[in-house]
Amino acid sequence: MPAFGFPADPPASDRPTTELPASARPLRPGTVAVTAGRPPHLPDSPLNVPLTMASTYVAGGDLEYGRYGNPTWSAFEEALGALEGGRCLAFSSGLAAVATVLDLVGQGRKVVAPRHAYNGSVMQLADLEARGRITVHLVDIEDTAAVIAACEDAALVWLESPTNPALEVADLVPIIASAHEAGAYVVVDNTFATPLLQQPLALGADLVVHSATKFIAGHSDVLLGAVLTSDDELAAVLRKRRELLGAVPGTLEAWLALRGLRTLHVRLERAQANAQELVRRLGGHAAVGEVRYPGFGAIVSVVLAQGALAADLLTHKTSLWVHATSLGGVESTFERRRRWKSEPATIPEGLVRMSVGIEDVDDLWDDLAGALDDLTGEPPAPAVEAPGPLGSP
Ligand SMILES: *Cc1c(COP(=O)(O)O)cnc(C)c1O
Repeated sequence: MPAFGFPADPPASDRPTTELPASARPLRPGTVAVTAGRPPHLPDSPLNVPLTMASTYVAGGDLEYGRYGNPTWSAFEEALGALEGGRCLAFSSGLAAVATVLDLVGQGRKVVAPRHAYNGSVMQLADLEARGRITVHLVDIEDTAAVIAACEDAALVWLESPTNPALEVADLVPIIASAHEAGAYVVVDNTFATPLLQQPLALGADLVVHSATKFIAGHSDVLLGAVLTSDDELAAVLRKRRELLGAVPGTLEAWLALRGLRTLHVRLERAQANAQELVRRLGGHAAVGEVRYPGFGAIVSVVLAQGALAADLLTHKTSLWVHATSLGGVESTFERRRRWKSEPATIPEGLVRMSVGIEDVDDLWDDLAGALDDLTGEPPAPAVEAPGPLGSP
């Protein structure tokens, strides 16, 4: 995994010495993001796949009905599939993608999963276990030996790396190899890294899931999910499950997410550079007890030295930084994660998860430093109940 920065250009010796035909020339990720999933270049054809608003199609073709397929979804799937290096299926949300994958686990079988991970995924696993569908073995994904030991008898190893919001990183290659030796499938939630910073299918994972709601769509205006695999049989099974469960994406959402994906590399490059600079500056501030950052990506977690109250005050004292859940948008947002009662008790009370946007980093820092310098006042609202049984984003 390119732990720092974007995948480098291939070294000079790897470059083709003779001109290849356009279709055979390997394109770099930034070019793929811009060009994949476009209509063919024919006179008068639009540059972008149009929004096909259709619940049904004239009988006799491949699509037949709106739940079975849509050309606008397909364009998004082609583009994200090209970036991740696999077949892509879009879903109505990240959690719909998670649920569809977990639905494949056999009755009573074991799933290994991170103790810290996206709250909704952990709660789905707990819900399935409570109903006797599966058993769940939670692990610290940074403890590679413990994860490998847990793989025995597992049907599925669920990985998320980096994790939300603790930003732990799994050593994917040995874990995937050991899981396969034990006969388990491996899925990686790649939402935080994006396919530009980590390509789990190339590292051997069987499945990748995304909340495309986050960096891929990137503008805080869409809910969308995706599952990717390089296994044709798995892709066919998942397509069938999507049809049966009806967890299909909205057409407008797929179109907006594809529009967002066109600039993913530019947005992530800026957001990551901002995050790296903020990590440097935050580390020198007396109010900050700990800065968690895996070295790449645009999510930073800080633990405030004075705990929960200081963290709550911070998120209410800024003007640029928006106090909001979710992440991966062009705008910088942050929240104290333990304000959600569903967040595990092992996440520090004073942890603030920061989703660094693409604004000017000096403005971001001025806003943040001003608030960090003045962590006084009345406590803001108490912890919120997560809406419904499934927790927070
Ligand atoms: C937000 C998130 C999800 C869930 O995605 P939705 O689109 O909100 O349903 C899954 N995994 C991770 C890592 C997330 O951050």
